[in-house]
Amino acid sequence: MNWKKYYSGKTLLIATKHQKELVIGPLFQQEFGFQYAVSDRLDTDMLGTFSGEIERKGRPLQVLRQKCEMAMDLHGEDVAIASEGSFGAHPHLLFAPADTELLMFKDRQNGIEIWVQKTSTETNFSGLEIHSTQEIPAFLAQVKFPSHALILKKSKDDLVQMHKGIKDEGLLYSLVDQYLKNSGSCFLETDMRAMNNPTRMGQIEQLTHQLIQKMNSLCPSCSFPGFSIMEVQGGLLCSQCFLPTQSILKEIYRCQKCLHEEEKLYPASKYLEDPMYCDYCNP
Ligand SMILES: [Zn+2]
Ligand SMILES: [Zn+2]
Repeated sequence: MNWKKYYSGKTLLIATKHQKELVIGPLFQQEFGFQYAVSDRLDTDMLGTFSGEIERKGRPLQVLRQKCEMAMDLHGEDVAIASEGSFGAHPHLLFAPADTELLMFKDRQNGIEIWVQKTSTETNFSGLEIHSTQEIPAFLAQVKFPSHALILKKSKDDLVQMHKGIKDEGLLYSLVDQYLKNSGSCFLETDMRAMNNPTRMGQIEQLTHQLIQKMNSLCPSCSFPGFSIMEVQGGLLCSQCFLPTQSILKEIYRCQKCLHEEEKLYPASKYLEDPMYCDYCNP
């Protein structure tokens, strides 16, 4: 079966209120022949917002799955795509802000779920408590204003008084002036919604290419897309004592449609582990 033709003409729902279809849609159309539609009836904010009015429920992957399923239910289609970003300190680089993006493709008729993840320090994610308008210019330069929008709040945790999507400098200063006059301070932070943040939109575009690449890996048995690593197993032997370590020995590729499996031993072309990582030699 030529599965690329399988998707040709089918409707791909893109679950977003933040114009992510602008980067995801054309790439999927070009690659697989999908018609794409935005699931605008789905209020993805119900599953959590960046600015904190609604706390995010569940782990990001579950949220993504839910977004896809809600969109498919609402529109009566079987193929959907959703993305989810989270921002904060980089997991390995101390003090560097990072943007972690997840993107999921779900085809429920065929039981397929393919997702990719990327963490990048390429983000303007930041926030600052403001006590004087003199603090503003340096912050604006740092967060790439006005090509990237801002959110202004009364205080960091105040979710009642909030102005989102600010791109106008005059408006920004007049709002800040009001806050300073009324309460002496306010909190300025980056608006991370994709349509207000070209840097983030760029990350989503890169991730879309990554997802397409993963889908283009075909099952050797049934030729369905998304033949990819579903599991990794430790057990690489220590070069000194030859006992198994926790380092990766093999990757398991699995087709979600026919469940065909293949193992790839020594994925990093490393056949023995350094005793430094051995629990026995270096406890
Ligand atoms: Zn297969
Ligand atoms: Zn050892």
